[in-house]
Amino acid sequence: MDSIKINNLEVFGHHGVFEEETKLGQKFVVSAELFMDLRQAGLSDDLTMSVHYGEVCRAINDFMKEKNYYLIEAAAEDMAKMLLIRFDKLSGLKLEIKKPWAPIGLHLEEVSVNIERGWHDVYLGLGSNMGDRKANIENALLRMEDDDDIKVCEVSRLINSKPYGYTDQDDFLNGAAHIKTLYTPSELLRCVNQIEALAGRTRDIKWGPRTLDIDILFYDNMTIDTENLTVPHADMKNRDFVLKPLNEIAPWLRHPVYNMTVSEMLNELSLVTTA
Ligand code: ATP
Ligand code: CA
Ligand code: CA
Repeated sequence: MDSIKINNLEVFGHHGVFEEETKLGQKFVVSAELFMDLRQAGLSDDLTMSVHYGEVCRAINDFMKEKNYYLIEAAAEDMAKMLLIRFDKLSGLKLEIKKPWAPIGLHLEEVSVNIERGWHDVYLGLGSNMGDRKANIENALLRMEDDDDIKVCEVSRLINSKPYGYTDQDDFLNGAAHIKTLYTPSELLRCVNQIEALAGRTRDIKWGPRTLDIDILFYDNMTIDTENLTVPHADMKNRDFVLKPLNEIAPWLRHPVYNMTVSEMLNELSLVTTA
């Protein structure tokens, strides 16, 4: 991927665990590799198509001056988030914060923290069959929009569907959404579980009635198999209430395990169900 590199920007800050570090301050040296598509900027020779690296440098400088952290790990984490949110053309970045004068009582050239962070493409399935179904789903999307770590990019229309698995319950309203997130998969699961809880979600009957259900359908191109999380979502191939809305916003999306697109999975499912 294309990038712009900022090497060894010298800044002054008051970060550290020792009193003399927070009182006197010291020099830090920051390097950043900013990932984005530079093709349009290259063809147009237009700064608005790129990220202004002077502004990025000033943002780093101000951040290091104004904030106070014990750890450069924490400074790097928050700085990465600040830059990814403020400069919206960035898809990701690598950051290095060096501390050349780390007070450890020994001679070293420098010590540094290095992290890589970025926006992840995620597709969510949303469903509700209790209370005001539409409001439950729309409020969930508003809560996500309010979260700095999530950008809601596209939402499908909401469709009415018959209950699945446990059929003695009201019809569902289902939709799919494309979001970008800075959360890791497990952080995102925690976040969507919290949003479900705020909507009054309880888990009494497997596949039973619920005010709100949010499933992580895809997370980048990753496959995840842990105790609490399976991605892509395990049963999507058999569920038209998942595939139909998803097909509206991402028919070309390819399942990393089945090697089929969403549109292919939906076609296959309708062949089975009409047979
Ligand atoms: P299903 O997952 O078959 O659609 P459900 O949505 O009714 O059923 P829940 O009670 O909402 O099931 O979730 C049960 C558990 O599933 C959650 O606590 C979560 O840890 C786990 N889980 C595993 N993979 C995923 C995923 N991709 N998205 C959301 N939850 C998941
Ligand atoms: Ca579900
Ligand atoms: Ca669920």
